[in-house]
Amino acid sequence: MSLRETAERLVEAETVVALTGAGASADSGIPTFRGKDGLWNKYDPRELATSEAFARDPERVWEWYLWRRRKIAEAEPNPTHTVLALMERDGLLEAVITQNVDGLHQRAGSRRVIELHGNIWRDECVSCEYHRVNDPERGEGLEYDELPPKCPDCGDPLRPGVVWFGEPLPHDALVEAENLARSCDVMLVIGTSGEVRPAADLPLVAKSCGATLIEINPSETALSSHMDVIIRERAASAIKALWGEIERLS
Ligand code: NAD
Ligand code: ZN
Repeated sequence: MSLRETAERLVEAETVVALTGAGASADSGIPTFRGKDGLWNKYDPRELATSEAFARDPERVWEWYLWRRRKIAEAEPNPTHTVLALMERDGLLEAVITQNVDGLHQRAGSRRVIELHGNIWRDECVSCEYHRVNDPERGEGLEYDELPPKCPDCGDPLRPGVVWFGEPLPHDALVEAENLARSCDVMLVIGTSGEVRPAADLPLVAKSCGATLIEINPSETALSSHMDVIIRERAASAIKALWGEIERLS
């Protein structure tokens, strides 16, 4: 399918949904987990993003998350985030389902964002219901007097509000994402390796319900063989070109 035909498919579709992964934020300078540029500092995420790692060394895990928060606070949304927000504004996109925890879709103006893996700006207590969402614009969540920070209600440690390896996804977000996957007729799959389940199952659910799958990723992924259309490019440039075609159609 040419870029123009892909744009036509998007414009004619009843319900378009985007599924984004770390690659959607790569063009904002936020590193991915996997792939050749995905080496995180000197850390292995699999040894840090687990509840076992947090129980063993909460200070080290927090330091890693504060480093990530600083990188995210310095970053800006890129054309992938911006175009998806414009598509939603113009009624061409129903929702963004994201595996990213950086909040860049919201910063770009997207309204219906389903966060499958939580949000890095959230702190939550390991024991009680206490939680808060920090606003980095107000300098929140970037530094703490002690690590791990303590829950103001019960005194137990606070943890970042993200889903770690081996943990279940937030129930409501997953149900909403699955319903969208079943009901959409096009799914844009942007910058995800397709190796993290259950998020990686969503395109397969969509396809089994008749949706067209469009992949935007410079590299082949575990989902590529299921795709109807593949754009082998970095997301920001590919989406900008696609948006140009969409605008020419209207
Ligand atoms: P991943 O690291 O497993 O895969 C990243 C994918 O992005 C790869 O397929 C790679 O080819 C592709 N990619 C790299 N640069 C790209 C670009 N410029 N344009 C388009 N695609 C590009 O990421 P994942 O599939 O999202 O899974 C990793 C998990 O780690 C997720 O659960 C996520 O929660 C977490 N994570 C989040 C962030 C973030 O919030 N920004 C960053 C890294 C990891
Ligand atoms: Zn508490």
